[in-house]
Amino acid sequence: MIGLALAMLPADNFAAAVDLFNDLQQSFGLSACEVSTEPSSPTALAPGKDGALAVASELRKAVSSLGVHLPYEGLNPVSRHPRIAAASREVLLETIDAAASIRAGYVVFHVRGTTSFVQEEAGLTAWSPVVRELAEHARKQGLRFLVENADDLRRVPDLLALAEVADTDICLDIGHLYERLYETDEWGVLRRVTARVQDIASPWPFILTAKLPAAEAGGLTGALSTLDKKTGCIHLHNHDGRLAHQPLSNVHIPWRGFLAKNSERLRTLPIILEADYRAHGHTSLERDLKELTELLAQEKSA
Ligand SMILES: [Zn+2]
Repeated sequence: MIGLALAMLPADNFAAAVDLFNDLQQSFGLSACEVSTEPSSPTALAPGKDGALAVASELRKAVSSLGVHLPYEGLNPVSRHPRIAAASREVLLETIDAAASIRAGYVVFHVRGTTSFVQEEAGLTAWSPVVRELAEHARKQGLRFLVENADDLRRVPDLLALAEVADTDICLDIGHLYERLYETDEWGVLRRVTARVQDIASPWPFILTAKLPAAEAGGLTGALSTLDKKTGCIHLHNHDGRLAHQPLSNVHIPWRGFLAKNSERLRTLPIILEADYRAHGHTSLERDLKELTELLAQEKSA
């Protein structure tokens, strides 16, 4: 199932992004869509504003899979300041309610805050009860709760550990599997610079395996196999060694081989294109959609 993230579309507001999605759906036979609720995104769904929920409900009827990306900017549900933690939690619970009201199938959550990485025991201890509560709230309303490998949770074993302990499923982000964990204390400046230059400029980008989540997980297929049935959606975008959310045509990440190899397994999963087409433009968006739909159609008929 191929879909788009509305947050990444070149449009001025939520309704315009839905219109653009509808046009592209006609041309490319899209069956999945993911809606952002981040206030900083011009194309986000703002529940309670301008009949947005009605527009989203119409969108729901047009697709097989509708997801809602929960907000994270400025929020910190594990803040040591109890009022900030409580307000963040409230915003997240309200957004889950909005997702349920438009009968979305899943919500996506990022682990981002001021406590340690989840790979450190303190991080897992801080995040587990929060994520468990949010996931339970979502589940009660028929929503699948997906924790994404992003921000403070980028290693596959850590993602799986949190998903196991908080009883959630997973959004597997292909681009973020190539976000090296430069924040580690184990590396000095020289090591960081060498790895960065290698990722950006080498003809074999990402060949260094240290602190690279994709390599640690045994590549893209390894990550998918490890997470197996817990995976509820895929986010797909490229990484140029500096930045994620690059168009697919920038060929740093071996996404083509991954999709071809796992096409059967991926058939029922929403694959959400998440490159930044606001920055890279409409032509790049259509080029990526064309290539992706053709590749998966080829695999289907093979
Ligand atoms: Zn993502």
